[in-house]
Amino acid sequence: MAAQGALRQTAGSVSINTTWPKNASYIGPRKLPNNFNTYKPALSLGRCKEVIPNPGGKMNGLEISPFIRSLPKVELHVHIEGTLTPALRWKLAKRNNVPLKYATFEELLDSYKVTYNHRKEVNGDDGRPTFLEAYFAGCQVLCTEHDFYELGMAYLERCKEMNVRYTEPFFDTQAHTERGIPAEVVLDGYLRAQQEGAKQFNVQSNWIFCFLRDRPFEEGMDAYEAARPWARVPGGKGLFHAVGLASNEFDKPPLLFETAFLKAKQDGLYVTMHCDVDQKDAADHVHEAIFDVCAGQGADRIDHGLNAIDRPELLQGLRTRKIPLTLCPHAYHRRQQTEVLFPKITKLLDAGVQICINSDDPTYMHDVWIDGNMQKTYTYCGLSQRDMVRLARNGVEASWASDEVKSRLNQELDAIEIE
Ligand SMILES: [Zn+2]
Repeated sequence: MAAQGALRQTAGSVSINTTWPKNASYIGPRKLPNNFNTYKPALSLGRCKEVIPNPGGKMNGLEISPFIRSLPKVELHVHIEGTLTPALRWKLAKRNNVPLKYATFEELLDSYKVTYNHRKEVNGDDGRPTFLEAYFAGCQVLCTEHDFYELGMAYLERCKEMNVRYTEPFFDTQAHTERGIPAEVVLDGYLRAQQEGAKQFNVQSNWIFCFLRDRPFEEGMDAYEAARPWARVPGGKGLFHAVGLASNEFDKPPLLFETAFLKAKQDGLYVTMHCDVDQKDAADHVHEAIFDVCAGQGADRIDHGLNAIDRPELLQGLRTRKIPLTLCPHAYHRRQQTEVLFPKITKLLDAGVQICINSDDPTYMHDVWIDGNMQKTYTYCGLSQRDMVRLARNGVEASWASDEVKSRLNQELDAIEIE
Protein backbone atom coordinates (compact mmCIF):
# COMPACT_ATOMS: atom_id res chain seq x y z
CA MET A 1 0.00 0.00 0.00
CA ALA A 2 1.30 3.43 -0.87
CA ALA A 3 2.14 5.43 2.23
CA GLN A 4 1.91 8.84 0.68
CA GLY A 5 2.68 10.52 -2.60
CA ALA A 6 1.81 8.73 -5.80
CA LEU A 7 -0.69 5.93 -5.62
CA ARG A 8 -1.26 3.48 -8.42
CA GLN A 9 -3.82 0.86 -7.78
CA THR A 10 -6.22 -1.25 -9.76
CA ALA A 11 -9.69 -1.12 -8.30
CA GLY A 12 -11.85 -3.87 -9.73
CA SER A 13 -12.09 -3.21 -13.44
CA VAL A 14 -11.25 0.46 -12.97
CA SER A 15 -7.62 1.43 -13.21
CA ILE A 16 -6.74 4.37 -11.04
CA ASN A 17 -3.63 6.37 -11.68
CA THR A 18 -3.81 9.33 -9.44
CA THR A 19 -1.77 11.31 -7.00
CA TRP A 20 -2.91 12.08 -3.52
CA PRO A 21 -3.41 15.81 -3.40
CA LYS A 22 -0.51 17.17 -1.39
CA ASN A 23 -2.89 19.18 0.72
CA ALA A 24 -5.59 16.53 1.07
CA SER A 25 -4.37 15.19 4.35
CA TYR A 26 -5.35 18.15 6.45
CA ILE A 27 -8.10 20.31 5.19
CA GLY A 28 -10.70 21.72 7.47
CA PRO A 29 -12.07 24.85 8.99
CA ARG A 30 -9.79 24.74 12.04
CA LYS A 31 -7.73 27.90 11.91
CA LEU A 32 -4.14 27.75 13.00
CA PRO A 33 -3.01 30.36 15.47
CA ASN A 34 -1.02 33.27 14.05
CA ASN A 35 2.02 32.19 16.01
CA PHE A 36 1.81 28.61 14.73
CA ASN A 37 5.32 28.51 13.27
CA THR A 38 7.00 29.97 16.32
CA TYR A 39 4.74 28.38 18.91
CA LYS A 40 6.55 27.00 21.93
CA PRO A 41 4.62 25.06 24.54
CA ALA A 42 4.64 26.44 28.05
CA LEU A 43 5.97 23.20 29.50
CA SER A 44 8.89 22.43 27.23
CA LEU A 45 10.95 19.38 28.08
CA GLY A 46 13.46 19.92 25.30
CA ARG A 47 13.06 20.74 21.63
CA CYS A 48 12.92 18.37 18.73
CA LYS A 49 15.41 19.21 15.98
CA GLU A 50 14.41 17.09 13.05
CA VAL A 51 11.09 18.49 11.92
CA ILE A 52 11.19 19.90 8.44
CA PRO A 53 8.69 22.69 7.89
CA ASN A 54 6.55 22.01 4.86
CA PRO A 55 3.75 24.55 4.89
CA GLY A 56 0.74 23.38 3.00
CA GLY A 57 1.88 19.76 3.04
CA LYS A 58 0.78 16.79 5.06
CA MET A 59 -0.11 17.58 8.66
CA ASN A 60 -0.04 21.32 8.26
CA GLY A 61 3.66 21.69 7.84
CA LEU A 62 4.98 18.78 9.87
CA GLU A 63 6.84 15.90 8.34
CA ILE A 64 7.50 12.65 10.07
CA SER A 65 11.08 12.68 11.26
CA PRO A 66 13.46 9.73 10.80
CA PHE A 67 13.48 9.26 14.57
CA ILE A 68 9.69 8.90 14.80
CA ARG A 69 9.60 6.77 11.68
CA SER A 70 12.08 4.26 13.06
CA LEU A 71 10.75 4.14 16.62
CA PRO A 72 9.32 0.66 17.41
CA LYS A 73 5.63 1.23 18.04
CA VAL A 74 2.62 -0.36 19.63
CA GLU A 75 -0.87 0.74 18.61
CA LEU A 76 -3.70 0.25 21.10
CA HIS A 77 -6.44 2.51 19.75
CA VAL A 78 -7.33 1.99 16.11
CA HIS A 79 -10.67 0.93 14.63
CA ILE A 80 -10.03 -1.47 11.79
CA GLU A 81 -12.91 -0.04 9.74
CA GLY A 82 -11.31 3.38 10.29
CA THR A 83 -8.27 2.19 8.31
CA LEU A 84 -10.30 1.49 5.16
CA THR A 85 -8.49 3.56 2.54
CA PRO A 86 -10.41 5.29 -0.25
CA ALA A 87 -8.59 3.06 -2.75
CA LEU A 88 -9.67 -0.15 -1.02
CA ARG A 89 -13.19 1.21 -0.55
CA TRP A 90 -13.41 1.97 -4.26
CA LYS A 91 -12.04 -1.43 -5.20
CA LEU A 92 -14.44 -3.33 -2.91
CA ALA A 93 -17.42 -1.25 -4.08
CA LYS A 94 -16.69 -2.30 -7.66
CA ARG A 95 -16.03 -5.92 -6.72
CA ASN A 96 -19.24 -6.24 -4.70
CA ASN A 97 -21.45 -4.03 -6.88
CA VAL A 98 -22.10 -1.70 -3.96
CA PRO A 99 -23.21 1.69 -5.31
CA LEU A 100 -21.23 4.70 -4.13
CA LYS A 101 -22.59 8.20 -4.36
CA TYR A 102 -19.35 9.31 -6.02
CA ALA A 103 -19.04 9.06 -9.80
CA THR A 104 -15.25 9.00 -9.83
CA PHE A 105 -12.43 8.03 -7.51
CA GLU A 106 -11.42 11.69 -7.32
CA GLU A 107 -14.89 12.59 -6.04
CA LEU A 108 -14.59 9.89 -3.41
CA LEU A 109 -11.18 11.28 -2.39
CA ASP A 110 -12.63 14.76 -2.13
CA SER A 111 -15.25 13.51 0.33
CA TYR A 112 -12.47 12.77 2.85
CA LYS A 113 -11.30 16.38 2.94
CA VAL A 114 -14.12 17.52 5.18
CA THR A 115 -13.69 18.03 8.89
CA TYR A 116 -16.77 16.33 10.23
CA ASN A 117 -19.31 17.85 12.56
CA HIS A 118 -18.10 16.04 15.65
CA ARG A 119 -21.45 15.49 17.32
CA LYS A 120 -24.70 16.87 16.01
CA GLU A 121 -26.26 16.21 19.41
CA VAL A 122 -23.76 18.53 21.05
CA ASN A 123 -22.92 21.01 18.28
CA GLY A 124 -26.17 21.24 16.33
CA ASP A 125 -26.67 20.26 12.67
CA ASP A 126 -24.75 22.55 10.32
CA GLY A 127 -25.14 20.33 7.26
CA ARG A 128 -21.78 18.60 7.54
CA PRO A 129 -21.77 14.82 8.02
CA THR A 130 -20.72 13.45 11.38
CA PHE A 131 -17.68 11.26 11.63
CA LEU A 132 -19.84 8.24 12.44
CA GLU A 133 -22.02 8.80 9.36
CA ALA A 134 -18.92 8.81 7.15
CA TYR A 135 -17.43 5.81 8.97
CA PHE A 136 -20.54 3.63 8.67
CA ALA A 137 -20.99 4.66 5.03
CA GLY A 138 -17.51 3.27 4.39
CA CYS A 139 -18.44 -0.04 6.02
CA GLN A 140 -21.06 -0.71 3.32
CA VAL A 141 -18.47 -2.08 0.89
CA LEU A 142 -17.29 -4.81 3.29
CA CYS A 143 -19.27 -7.90 2.34
CA THR A 144 -17.24 -11.11 2.12
CA GLU A 145 -14.76 -12.89 4.36
CA HIS A 146 -12.06 -11.93 1.89
CA ASP A 147 -13.02 -8.23 2.15
CA PHE A 148 -12.52 -8.26 5.91
CA TYR A 149 -9.29 -10.19 5.46
CA GLU A 150 -8.02 -7.66 2.94
CA LEU A 151 -8.93 -4.77 5.23
CA GLY A 152 -7.03 -6.40 8.11
CA MET A 153 -4.03 -7.23 5.94
CA ALA A 154 -3.86 -3.72 4.46
CA TYR A 155 -3.69 -2.25 7.96
CA LEU A 156 -1.10 -4.77 9.17
CA GLU A 157 1.04 -4.11 6.10
CA ARG A 158 0.81 -0.41 6.86
CA CYS A 159 1.88 -1.24 10.43
CA LYS A 160 5.01 -2.86 9.08
CA GLU A 161 5.80 0.27 7.04
CA MET A 162 5.41 2.44 10.16
CA ASN A 163 7.36 0.02 12.38
CA VAL A 164 4.26 -0.78 14.44
CA ARG A 165 5.32 -4.12 15.86
CA TYR A 166 2.25 -5.01 17.86
CA THR A 167 -1.35 -3.78 17.66
CA GLU A 168 -4.74 -4.28 19.27
CA PRO A 169 -7.34 -3.22 16.68
CA PHE A 170 -10.96 -2.60 17.61
CA PHE A 171 -13.69 -4.23 15.58
CA ASP A 172 -17.41 -4.80 15.93
CA THR A 173 -19.86 -7.16 14.29
CA GLN A 174 -23.06 -5.17 14.87
CA ALA A 175 -22.40 -2.66 12.06
CA HIS A 176 -22.10 -5.60 9.67
CA THR A 177 -24.74 -8.06 10.89
CA GLU A 178 -27.36 -5.31 10.63
CA ARG A 179 -26.52 -5.22 6.88
CA GLY A 180 -27.09 -8.95 6.63
CA ILE A 181 -23.42 -9.98 6.82
CA PRO A 182 -23.07 -13.06 9.07
CA ALA A 183 -20.83 -12.46 12.09
CA GLU A 184 -18.60 -15.41 11.17
CA VAL A 185 -17.76 -13.75 7.85
CA VAL A 186 -16.37 -10.76 9.76
CA LEU A 187 -14.66 -12.83 12.44
CA ASP A 188 -13.09 -15.38 10.07
CA GLY A 189 -11.73 -12.61 7.85
CA TYR A 190 -10.05 -10.85 10.76
CA LEU A 191 -8.80 -14.14 12.20
CA ARG A 192 -7.10 -15.01 8.91
CA ALA A 193 -5.56 -11.51 8.79
CA GLN A 194 -4.33 -11.87 12.37
CA GLN A 195 -2.58 -15.12 11.48
CA GLU A 196 -1.27 -14.11 8.04
CA GLY A 197 -0.23 -10.64 9.19
CA ALA A 198 1.99 -12.17 11.85
CA LYS A 199 3.61 -14.43 9.25
CA GLN A 200 3.91 -12.04 6.31
CA PHE A 201 4.62 -8.76 8.10
CA ASN A 202 5.85 -9.87 11.52
CA VAL A 203 3.14 -7.74 13.12
CA GLN A 204 1.49 -9.42 16.10
CA SER A 205 -2.10 -8.50 16.89
CA ASN A 206 -4.68 -9.20 19.55
CA TRP A 207 -8.04 -7.75 18.68
CA ILE A 208 -10.77 -6.05 20.76
CA PHE A 209 -14.48 -6.78 20.32
CA CYS A 210 -16.53 -3.58 20.67
CA PHE A 211 -20.08 -3.12 21.81
CA LEU A 212 -21.78 -0.31 19.90
CA ARG A 213 -23.00 1.73 22.84
CA ASP A 214 -25.70 3.58 20.91
CA ARG A 215 -27.40 0.30 20.02
CA PRO A 216 -29.56 -1.73 22.41
CA PHE A 217 -27.65 -3.47 25.17
CA GLU A 218 -29.33 -6.83 24.47
CA GLU A 219 -28.24 -6.67 20.83
CA GLY A 220 -24.65 -6.11 21.98
CA MET A 221 -24.82 -9.08 24.33
CA ASP A 222 -26.15 -11.28 21.52
CA ALA A 223 -23.30 -10.10 19.30
CA TYR A 224 -20.80 -10.92 22.04
CA GLU A 225 -22.23 -14.42 22.55
CA ALA A 226 -22.04 -15.05 18.80
CA ALA A 227 -18.43 -13.82 18.67
CA ARG A 228 -17.29 -15.59 21.84
CA PRO A 229 -15.95 -18.73 20.04
CA TRP A 230 -13.41 -16.39 18.37
CA ALA A 231 -12.25 -15.00 21.74
CA ARG A 232 -9.17 -15.99 23.67
CA VAL A 233 -11.17 -18.26 25.94
CA PRO A 234 -10.57 -21.97 26.60
CA GLY A 235 -11.23 -23.70 23.27
CA GLY A 236 -11.61 -20.33 21.50
CA LYS A 237 -9.86 -19.25 18.31
CA GLY A 238 -7.86 -16.45 19.92
CA LEU A 239 -8.82 -13.48 17.74
CA PHE A 240 -9.81 -11.11 20.53
CA HIS A 241 -8.74 -10.91 24.13
CA ALA A 242 -10.70 -7.88 25.30
CA VAL A 243 -13.97 -6.05 24.91
CA GLY A 244 -14.42 -2.34 24.34
CA LEU A 245 -17.16 0.25 24.11
CA ALA A 246 -17.38 2.35 20.95
CA SER A 247 -19.67 4.53 18.80
CA ASN A 248 -21.79 7.48 19.93
CA GLU A 249 -21.41 8.16 23.64
CA PHE A 250 -24.15 10.79 23.93
CA ASP A 251 -26.26 9.81 26.98
CA LYS A 252 -24.62 6.35 26.97
CA PRO A 253 -22.48 6.19 30.11
CA PRO A 254 -20.19 3.19 30.67
CA LEU A 255 -22.28 1.68 33.46
CA LEU A 256 -25.09 0.90 31.00
CA PHE A 257 -22.84 -1.97 29.87
CA GLU A 258 -21.79 -3.19 33.31
CA THR A 259 -23.36 -6.64 32.84
CA ALA A 260 -21.40 -7.07 29.62
CA PHE A 261 -18.14 -6.07 31.32
CA LEU A 262 -18.74 -8.55 34.13
CA LYS A 263 -19.43 -11.31 31.62
CA ALA A 264 -16.23 -10.51 29.70
CA LYS A 265 -14.24 -10.49 32.94
CA GLN A 266 -15.76 -13.83 33.87
CA ASP A 267 -14.54 -15.10 30.49
CA GLY A 268 -11.01 -13.95 31.31
CA LEU A 269 -11.00 -11.00 28.90
CA TYR A 270 -9.77 -7.45 29.47
CA VAL A 271 -12.12 -4.48 29.47
CA THR A 272 -11.53 -1.09 27.90
CA MET A 273 -13.93 1.68 26.94
CA HIS A 274 -14.06 4.95 25.07
CA CYS A 275 -14.51 8.10 27.10
CA ASP A 276 -14.98 10.58 24.32
CA VAL A 277 -13.49 14.07 24.50
CA ASP A 278 -15.75 17.02 25.40
CA GLN A 279 -18.81 14.83 24.98
CA LYS A 280 -21.82 15.55 27.22
CA ASP A 281 -20.99 14.37 30.77
CA ALA A 282 -17.45 13.53 29.61
CA ALA A 283 -15.79 13.82 33.04
CA ASP A 284 -18.61 11.83 34.68
CA HIS A 285 -18.04 9.04 32.18
CA VAL A 286 -14.31 9.00 32.98
CA HIS A 287 -15.25 8.81 36.66
CA GLU A 288 -17.42 5.75 36.04
CA ALA A 289 -14.71 4.09 33.96
CA ILE A 290 -12.11 4.60 36.70
CA PHE A 291 -14.10 3.95 39.85
CA ASP A 292 -17.42 2.22 39.11
CA VAL A 293 -17.35 -0.28 36.26
CA CYS A 294 -16.32 -3.92 36.67
CA ALA A 295 -17.84 -4.05 40.17
CA GLY A 296 -15.84 -1.02 41.25
CA GLN A 297 -12.49 -2.36 40.01
CA GLY A 298 -12.44 0.08 37.11
CA ALA A 299 -11.60 -0.51 33.45
CA ASP A 300 -8.26 -2.04 32.51
CA ARG A 301 -7.70 0.81 30.09
CA ILE A 302 -9.54 3.93 28.90
CA ASP A 303 -9.64 5.12 25.29
CA HIS A 304 -9.28 8.92 24.96
CA GLY A 305 -10.26 10.07 28.48
CA LEU A 306 -8.65 13.48 27.95
CA ASN A 307 -11.29 15.11 30.16
CA ALA A 308 -9.58 13.49 33.15
CA ILE A 309 -7.68 16.76 33.41
CA ASP A 310 -10.95 18.51 34.32
CA ARG A 311 -10.96 17.06 37.84
CA PRO A 312 -8.03 16.32 40.17
CA GLU A 313 -9.63 13.14 41.54
CA LEU A 314 -9.70 11.67 38.04
CA LEU A 315 -5.98 12.24 37.51
CA GLN A 316 -5.30 10.76 40.90
CA GLY A 317 -7.57 7.78 40.18
CA LEU A 318 -5.83 7.03 36.89
CA ARG A 319 -2.45 7.23 38.57
CA THR A 320 -3.21 5.18 41.68
CA ARG A 321 -5.24 2.56 39.82
CA LYS A 322 -2.61 2.48 37.04
CA ILE A 323 -5.20 2.81 34.28
CA PRO A 324 -3.57 3.85 31.00
CA LEU A 325 -5.13 6.26 28.50
CA THR A 326 -4.91 5.55 24.77
CA LEU A 327 -4.77 9.06 23.28
CA CYS A 328 -5.25 10.00 19.62
CA PRO A 329 -3.97 13.60 19.44
CA HIS A 330 -4.88 14.34 15.83
CA ALA A 331 -8.50 13.40 16.50
CA TYR A 332 -8.62 16.22 19.07
CA HIS A 333 -6.38 18.54 17.06
CA ARG A 334 -9.09 18.67 14.39
CA ARG A 335 -11.23 20.57 16.87
CA GLN A 336 -8.83 22.20 19.34
CA GLN A 337 -6.16 24.80 18.84
CA THR A 338 -2.56 23.66 19.10
CA GLU A 339 -1.81 25.75 22.19
CA VAL A 340 -4.97 24.53 23.90
CA LEU A 341 -4.65 20.82 23.18
CA PHE A 342 -1.01 19.88 23.58
CA PRO A 343 -0.48 21.42 27.02
CA LYS A 344 -3.30 19.11 28.17
CA ILE A 345 -1.28 16.11 27.00
CA THR A 346 1.80 17.49 28.74
CA LYS A 347 -0.29 17.93 31.88
CA LEU A 348 -1.26 14.25 31.81
CA LEU A 349 2.38 13.28 31.43
CA ASP A 350 3.43 15.57 34.26
CA ALA A 351 0.64 14.16 36.46
CA GLY A 352 2.15 10.70 36.07
CA VAL A 353 -0.71 9.26 34.00
CA GLN A 354 0.37 6.46 31.71
CA ILE A 355 -0.53 7.65 28.22
CA CYS A 356 0.28 6.24 24.81
CA ILE A 357 -0.20 7.66 21.32
CA ASN A 358 -2.45 6.14 18.66
CA SER A 359 -4.38 6.98 15.49
CA ASP A 360 -8.11 6.13 16.06
CA ASP A 361 -9.56 6.23 12.51
CA PRO A 362 -6.72 7.45 10.30
CA THR A 363 -8.37 7.34 6.88
CA TYR A 364 -11.30 9.42 8.14
CA MET A 365 -8.96 11.77 9.99
CA HIS A 366 -7.02 13.35 7.14
CA ASP A 367 -4.81 10.29 6.60
CA VAL A 368 -2.88 10.93 9.80
CA TRP A 369 -1.67 7.57 11.16
CA ILE A 370 0.09 6.66 14.39
CA ASP A 371 3.42 8.03 13.15
CA GLY A 372 1.77 11.38 12.38
CA ASN A 373 0.13 11.42 15.79
CA MET A 374 3.49 10.72 17.43
CA GLN A 375 5.15 13.46 15.40
CA LYS A 376 2.53 15.97 16.47
CA THR A 377 3.02 15.02 20.10
CA TYR A 378 6.80 15.17 19.76
CA THR A 379 6.70 18.60 18.21
CA TYR A 380 3.79 20.39 19.85
CA CYS A 381 4.42 19.07 23.37
CA GLY A 382 8.09 19.94 22.88
CA LEU A 383 9.20 16.47 23.94
CA SER A 384 12.69 15.01 23.79
CA GLN A 385 13.62 11.75 22.11
CA ARG A 386 13.87 10.23 25.57
CA ASP A 387 10.26 11.31 26.27
CA MET A 388 9.11 9.71 23.01
CA VAL A 389 10.83 6.44 23.89
CA ARG A 390 8.99 6.64 27.20
CA LEU A 391 5.68 7.09 25.36
CA ALA A 392 6.48 4.11 23.13
CA ARG A 393 7.33 2.10 26.24
CA ASN A 394 4.01 3.17 27.79
CA GLY A 395 2.33 1.56 24.79
CA VAL A 396 4.19 -1.68 25.43
CA GLU A 397 3.34 -1.68 29.12
CA ALA A 398 -0.31 -0.71 28.55
CA SER A 399 -0.73 -3.48 25.99
CA TRP A 400 -1.98 -6.97 26.64
CA ALA A 401 0.80 -8.55 24.61
CA SER A 402 2.52 -11.68 25.83
CA ASP A 403 5.49 -11.26 28.17
CA GLU A 404 7.71 -12.46 25.34
CA VAL A 405 6.50 -9.76 22.91
CA LYS A 406 6.74 -7.09 25.61
CA SER A 407 10.24 -8.08 26.57
CA ARG A 408 11.42 -8.09 22.95
CA LEU A 409 9.96 -4.63 22.34
CA ASN A 410 11.42 -3.26 25.57
CA GLN A 411 14.85 -4.53 24.57
CA GLU A 412 14.55 -2.73 21.25
CA LEU A 413 13.52 0.46 23.01
CA ASP A 414 16.45 0.09 25.44
CA ALA A 415 18.83 -0.11 22.49
CA ILE A 416 17.74 3.19 20.91
CA GLU A 417 20.49 5.76 20.96
CA ILE A 418 19.13 9.05 22.19
CA GLU A 419 20.68 12.18 20.72
ZN1 LIG B 1 -11.73 5.34 18.97
